[in-house]
Amino acid sequence: MNAMTTYKKNEQCRLCGAKNLNQILKMPACPPVDNYRFASEPEVNHPSFPMDLYMCSNCGHAQLLDVVSPDILFGNYIYTSSSSTDLDKHFKAYAAAVADRLRLGSGSFIVDIGSNDGLFLSKFQALGIKVLGIDPAQTVAEKALASGIPTEISFLNPAIVGKVLAKYGAADLVTANNVFSHSDDLRGFAICAGDLLKNEGVFVFEVSYLQDLVDGKVVDYIYHEHLAHHSVRPLRIFFESIGMKLIDIEKVQTKGGSIRGYAARRESAWPVSNVVAQLEQTEESGGLYRAQTYRIVQDYMDERGKQVVAMLESVATSGGKIASYGASATATVLNYMMELNRFFSFIVDDNPARQCRLSPGFRIPVTSREVLIAERPTLVVISSWRFAREIIAKNQDYLDAGGRFLIPLPELEVVAR
Ligand SMILES: [Zn+2]
Repeated sequence: MNAMTTYKKNEQCRLCGAKNLNQILKMPACPPVDNYRFASEPEVNHPSFPMDLYMCSNCGHAQLLDVVSPDILFGNYIYTSSSSTDLDKHFKAYAAAVADRLRLGSGSFIVDIGSNDGLFLSKFQALGIKVLGIDPAQTVAEKALASGIPTEISFLNPAIVGKVLAKYGAADLVTANNVFSHSDDLRGFAICAGDLLKNEGVFVFEVSYLQDLVDGKVVDYIYHEHLAHHSVRPLRIFFESIGMKLIDIEKVQTKGGSIRGYAARRESAWPVSNVVAQLEQTEESGGLYRAQTYRIVQDYMDERGKQVVAMLESVATSGGKIASYGASATATVLNYMMELNRFFSFIVDDNPARQCRLSPGFRIPVTSREVLIAERPTLVVISSWRFAREIIAKNQDYLDAGGRFLIPLPELEVVAR
């Protein structure tokens, strides 16, 4: 792959096409943040790419303009949805809620875009609903097929839409979970999703919610894969511009705060819920579209980073050993943002698929928790801070042996025995 196709910088808003975009959060430049590679693999020196957050001054959509090729971001894809038990529970409840709300039954047909290993669709299949997945990643799609989930191995484009309509017919429900945040061509994506629908069909998508990101002052979900950080106002305007309507929004507690959006064809009989206007009102009055809101978040993160670095420096100066817990994409972002990588001797992760790999950029070895007990570092930073309670509960023996955990967010906390 040559340099021209590896990376590009957009100049237009992905939702409305306007060219007035303002940088609202300065992020560290990072190599692909989920690119944990085996030590035995030939080293790929991916450069660091910018991933600053911009806001469209026309519609208010928050987005990354720096686009790294999916071949680089997803080429070494090690995440499958079935590897997360939380996600399994979430998908089960999600499928039941949507099936109930849209009164889906044995005659219904659902298409999931970015269907991964078919976990989400399996929940609908269990309800007796006909399902089809569309996913470009060969390995996970084959896993789905092997477990009995019909899957087309493809990106979403007009050609696959035509093929699906001819082969299976139009859908009562089209879903997209998180891939709606990954697509550089949101307009093309949403038009294809709409074209797959019956006249009264509904497009349902889950995306992380900008309002929750701001309220929680946590920005480690901002990275190259997440090109969009959605909010209600820009989405409402966007769907109107492609002949659809945003009919409802529900708030859900995944990925640090998300929204589940429902969209239908403009001419369909679906009424628009008052919730859409209410949330827009809350966004406007809370300052979600004002630059000052993001300056506060930036200052908060900068200050917190300085506090953590000062603590690590004092441990390092007195000869202590420091490790990190969590070899995830968000951990990479946090470690870069707060400039913590230089302190770490190793990273612990409980997922065997992550172990024996090296972290992106700094190539810090990822180990199991057995190494934590054997090496007993002075301090362990829980970079995957959302799982801090589980991690601490699982590692009482480390604390009993005199170890300490540092939790960087949402409150700075040191945990000792
Ligand atoms: Zn815009």
